[in-house]
Amino acid sequence: MAVHEFRLCGALMPDLITHSIAAYWLLRLPRFARFRVIFYLGTILPDILARPIHILWPQLSLYSVAIHTPVFMVVCALLAAEFFAPALRTTIRTFLLLGIGLHFFLDFFQIHLGDGYYWFFPFSWKSFEIGLFWPETSIRLLPLWLILIAGFELTLRLIKSR
Ligand SMILES: [Zn+2]
Repeated sequence: MAVHEFRLCGALMPDLITHSIAAYWLLRLPRFARFRVIFYLGTILPDILARPIHILWPQLSLYSVAIHTPVFMVVCALLAAEFFAPALRTTIRTFLLLGIGLHFFLDFFQIHLGDGYYWFFPFSWKSFEIGLFWPETSIRLLPLWLILIAGFELTLRLIKSR
């Protein structure tokens, strides 16, 4: 694995896993099963679009900053929904936007050394966050989340099999 690939995985994985685990807990109910994957996509979309550019081409950081903003992601979700059949577009749009909303909600609690995310870009360069945890904190909690999910799924299957 090349150095830049390793850096890419290291920077992407904690965020993607944390966002996916939060999405799992929110949309675990069977009635969401049909569109769960769209919600998952929305929860990781800001990072999978912005982070590779930031890591592979740091000189383009202004572009990656602009991508990881609510305005850009809303436009992206609205455009992505247009690729689906007209009858599905509203649902796709809704689940994508809810997933993106969850992503930014969780990012709002992160700590950054410099400026955080620019929530109101391109209207303002003001950056603020609650600052409860570092982005890397989630990797330490990963075993706990995986054990909880495995235990939860196992319990559900045991209950259903009776
Ligand atoms: Zn993010």
